[in-house]
Amino acid sequence: MAFSFFGGVHPKENKFYTCDKQTEVFPEPDVIVIPMSQNIGAPCMPLVKKGDPVTVGQKIGDNQGLCAPIHSSVSGTVKAVEMRPHNTGTNVMSVVIQNDHLDTLCETVKPRTQEEVDALSPMELVDIIHEGGLVGMGGATFPTHVKLSGGIGKVDTVIINAGECEPYITADDRLCREHPDEVISGLKVIMKIFGLKEGHIGIEDNKPEAIKILKSNLINGDGISVDALPAKYPQGAEKQLIYAITGREVPSGGLPAAVGCAVFNAATAKAIHDVVYKGMPLISRIVTVSGDIVMEPKNLLVPIGTSFDDLLGAVGHSENPYKVLSGGPMMGVAQYDLSVTTTKGVNAVTILGHKNRYAVEDVRCLRCGKCIDACPMHLMPVLMYKALQDGDVDGLKASNMMDCIECGCCAYTCPASVPLVHGFRVGKQLIRSAAQPAKK
Ligand code: SF4
Ligand code: SF4
Repeated sequence: MAFSFFGGVHPKENKFYTCDKQTEVFPEPDVIVIPMSQNIGAPCMPLVKKGDPVTVGQKIGDNQGLCAPIHSSVSGTVKAVEMRPHNTGTNVMSVVIQNDHLDTLCETVKPRTQEEVDALSPMELVDIIHEGGLVGMGGATFPTHVKLSGGIGKVDTVIINAGECEPYITADDRLCREHPDEVISGLKVIMKIFGLKEGHIGIEDNKPEAIKILKSNLINGDGISVDALPAKYPQGAEKQLIYAITGREVPSGGLPAAVGCAVFNAATAKAIHDVVYKGMPLISRIVTVSGDIVMEPKNLLVPIGTSFDDLLGAVGHSENPYKVLSGGPMMGVAQYDLSVTTTKGVNAVTILGHKNRYAVEDVRCLRCGKCIDACPMHLMPVLMYKALQDGDVDGLKASNMMDCIECGCCAYTCPASVPLVHGFRVGKQLIRSAAQPAKK
């Protein structure tokens, strides 16, 4: 039985641009720029220097703590290790690689047979996933090995998130249609690690083809169910997906493991299959490059470190973009420098025209309360914004702003175009700064 979460909105899906197009392999660029910050937590320290030769799948960055290693997506020579613009809007240390187009494979990349995989213990599987540099590929970028090791003994329900509720984005839809067996295989590895006999794949019912293909690839006795959920944004958000499938509510400030659940993106499941069976670390992913002014919208299999400029060049656009977003129109981050490159968490580049310009000069809240009705986290966006305007950090905390998942439902529904989500990002930063000990 599917539960319906509170709030949410129904934005125009605009998935028709790419959902029925086969994923194309993007031609490898001559130069790849791989940022050393690709996960929530600690950035990697570069393990290579200018002039070093590198191979496909070679580890080029790593660190202790909450961190996943980073690997080269091409073979060639390191041109530079330097600060470069990043798709989060900052500058980060990056490894710049001149591609030799020889695709020389790193000697550590070795496939395993089913018998070899069967012989691996849960912790050995977690170590392989750690070494493969896996992170949450739906955008959260939480290191996968940490989620797995932290969930052993606590998790009784594992869910693959194929919800993909953001408008325009169809990367996971295509992945499930083109690689259903690998997604299912990755889920089985997770089930083995957690010692579970059952697993779920949560997917919105606006992807009938993917649902059909996934179901037809299941074998009786797999213990896996494909749960088709009503399309409503943000059905693909972790807490909303858990509620929709299990009826369990993750408590404020809590993690899914607090209610016995663990959620992994469909692309992460496929990446788990790849590293466990093929020995291939996370070096590429499917990216939807779409938008209302794009001439040839596509899903592209892209090496990590490909510039947004190259991606825009591959699809073309009919007018000067108003906005280029890393991600979709609801949660994406606007880019001001298109030399930024794809990272493990980038599932889409969305290019929008000027008809999407809604900014108003004199922003005035109408006190209509629509934002409250839309918030799937049961928050009061109007009061959060008021506390922000007042610079009231205690008020921000009291409003549970840290529970905001930045889904954009409030901003989408606001008739006065109040820049709510932008404000909440600033507000969260204020709360974090206030929690820092004062510098002497
Ligand atoms: S962006 Fe935050 S406040 Fe706005 S609807 Fe989403 S969770 Fe609620
Ligand atoms: S929806 Fe917009 S105008 Fe209405 S109360 Fe919320 S912030 Fe104010």
